[in-house]
Amino acid sequence: MTTAPTRVAKPLLHVKGLVKRFGGNVALAGIDFDLAPGEMLALIGPNGAGKSTTFNALNGQLLADAGVVELSGQSLLGQSPQAIWALGVARTFQVAQTFASMTLLENVQMALLSSKSRLFQAFESVHAMDAHEAHDLLRQVGLDELSDQDAKSLAYGDVKRLELAMALACKPRLLLMDEPTAGMSASERLVLMGLIRDLTQQPQGPSRPALSVLFTEHSMDVVFGFADRILVLSAGQIIAQGSPREIAQNPLVQKSYLGTSFKYPNSNLQS
Ligand code: ADP
Ligand code: MG
Repeated sequence: MTTAPTRVAKPLLHVKGLVKRFGGNVALAGIDFDLAPGEMLALIGPNGAGKSTTFNALNGQLLADAGVVELSGQSLLGQSPQAIWALGVARTFQVAQTFASMTLLENVQMALLSSKSRLFQAFESVHAMDAHEAHDLLRQVGLDELSDQDAKSLAYGDVKRLELAMALACKPRLLLMDEPTAGMSASERLVLMGLIRDLTQQPQGPSRPALSVLFTEHSMDVVFGFADRILVLSAGQIIAQGSPREIAQNPLVQKSYLGTSFKYPNSNLQS
């Protein structure tokens, strides 16, 4: 069994005893986990398990009732989403949030301006600012050739890649992704998740460690193909955590979530 939290010597993110109640409904009943630098951690579990609540409590959209949330030792609890974002916690959404009538370049320039706290002047200066950094970000997600197109002309998989480039504009240490591949084709999924995995495997700059990622996902191909480690949440509690192999073989997880016919590794998974 693998319910004990995996100890990480110097975690990027440390969560302990996190509790969130909605009236009498206990959405998170005191969850504990650590996330290492450069790690891709999947959060899975049935509907209503508390996945979105965990995300919202980590990025400040919801105020937790109790617990500890620390990013490199700095407490995030009680801080605003903007403050948490400025500390290097970026988030993408289940339905991508981009500006449809702007070009890809302008979208990324907007994100860069806002990461530099200059959003108030964005509409005046978005064209004037140095586009070099925006092109770099688009290149990182493989979209630079489309930089002059409007975002609304993109296929959905490309919109999600644009959203990723925008999330990277704040130079995040931690990326929270709520169902990053929802609505995507199988091949688009592999491209997006491959990009994200590459970001976790290379330092992001001279003094910047590799990115860490926490993601929720319904596609078990994505979870078991890309996660370094998996947390299984059920009714507000972590019922198991471990490697993909450990989770696939865990009888409680099979019974409550994956089903007993689930096989790992399975032929649909990329290596
Ligand atoms: P998941 O994302 O795993 O499907 P959620 O975190 O959305 O689960 O929900 C966990 C529990 O908290 C559910 O019982 C849900 O009904 C409840 N819940 C979530 N958000 C709210 C809210 N804003 N108000 C009241 N109850 C909520
Ligand atoms: Mg949810």
